[in-house]
Amino acid sequence: MARHAEIAGGGFTGLVMGAALARAGWTVRVHERTEEIRAFGAGIWIWDNGVRVLKAIGAADEALDGCTEAPTYISWDAKGRYIDEVPFAPITSTDRSRMFCITRQQLLSAILGAAERAGVEIITGSTATSARPEGVVITEDGREWPADLVIGADGINSKVRDSLGLLKSRKPHVDGAIRVLVPHEPGYADTEEGRTIREWWNGYRRVLYTPCTREVFYLAFIMLARDTEASRLPLPKSLWTEAFPHLESMIDRVPDEGRYDRFETIKLKAWSKGRVAIVGDSAHAMSPGLGQGCGTAISNALSLANMLQESDDIDRVLARWEARQRPISEHTQLWSTITWPLILWPHWAARIYCNMPILHPWMLKQRRKPSEFFAYGTETQARWMPPSLRKEAETVA
Ligand SMILES: Cc1cc2nc3c(=O)[nH]c(=O)nc-3n(C[C@H](O)[C@H](O)[C@H](O)COP(=O)(O)OP(=O)(O)OC[C@H]3O[C@@H](n4cnc5c(N)ncnc54)[C@H](O)[C@@H]3O)c2cc1C
Repeated sequence: MARHAEIAGGGFTGLVMGAALARAGWTVRVHERTEEIRAFGAGIWIWDNGVRVLKAIGAADEALDGCTEAPTYISWDAKGRYIDEVPFAPITSTDRSRMFCITRQQLLSAILGAAERAGVEIITGSTATSARPEGVVITEDGREWPADLVIGADGINSKVRDSLGLLKSRKPHVDGAIRVLVPHEPGYADTEEGRTIREWWNGYRRVLYTPCTREVFYLAFIMLARDTEASRLPLPKSLWTEAFPHLESMIDRVPDEGRYDRFETIKLKAWSKGRVAIVGDSAHAMSPGLGQGCGTAISNALSLANMLQESDDIDRVLARWEARQRPISEHTQLWSTITWPLILWPHWAARIYCNMPILHPWMLKQRRKPSEFFAYGTETQARWMPPSLRKEAETVA
């Protein structure tokens, strides 16, 4: 008889987990508390580790369709002095790890499509309130949903995790960000400047520009959590223009809707209890220093689904899964934090730190490590290439 999973949370993690389990023959039900499956935020960076997961569930072509290729990520201080530069591998690279930026809605829609095609049942407006270790999730309407495995993919404020007493630490960071998508001016997406990821610093405030698609780019306005004036919504445009006058035309076009999030790092005592596994941000939320929160989450989800295919002994699989995935997830959390809190540093010190000979290449290697990690079962997968490049290769052949 097919094994059955109940998943709390219809975000990136819950839907990847659902799609992967359903493709392996499980029956799967996802409970999403909102009335529709919708992404919040704006753009998202997805590295090759995430791309391998998307490919495995049949969502890569749709998720990455139309994304732009960023050659490099450059940051400057308020006087226009260079702070740091991180180059990216080109999309055509066949060995180095690549980074793709897309809109969150496009990514989520592609994953949702894959989950639906695999036969996942999705119930919206269904909020999980707790779970029991024998494999039961309880929803707000009092119903109990038994399963061979319950997945708590209900995000940073996970009720499933907290009902089982699994939280070890929850550390709010000093900063947060407002994220928005802004329409491109005609032709700008194709210029070298338009394709380059850029970050401008002024005091404790920063603006990060990431090209997304040919139609829109993604701006993050980053500030200290105590900077309540700058983190108001809708974005206080005059205040941000005053700090970054050269960005006036971009800031002017920022829409009223946006979202502010404070960054947090979450660690658990254990990633599972009995027949309940905690996956995604609910288990290991991190600051966005490496752009790897989602990549790590979906990589952990696919690994668990693939490991479960090899054994009926769920307890043993959960222990093996945590032992395999937790070290790289904690490495990613650590390097996200090390990369990010430079906001508190004087800019001259950040410049020295980012450019120290010997240390700089070593740091880049540590930062790249998560993108070079393979989710369980993807080790022999052929590298994903954009369909246009695949067509070229077929024509040449
Ligand atoms: C500013 C910022 C920038 C980021 N940039 C990147 C990036 O560039 N690249 C990257 O890889 N990651 C990035 N991240 C991290 C990324 O957004 C998260 O890691 C990712 O969203 C985690 O997905 P998730 O499905 O685990 O959680 P979520 O996305 O939070 O999804 C949880 C889902 O569960 C639902 N839910 C919540 N509670 C319940 C409940 N009780 N019952 C039922 N459903 C429930 C929610 O409505 C939601 O749909 C960033 C994060 C921030 C804050």
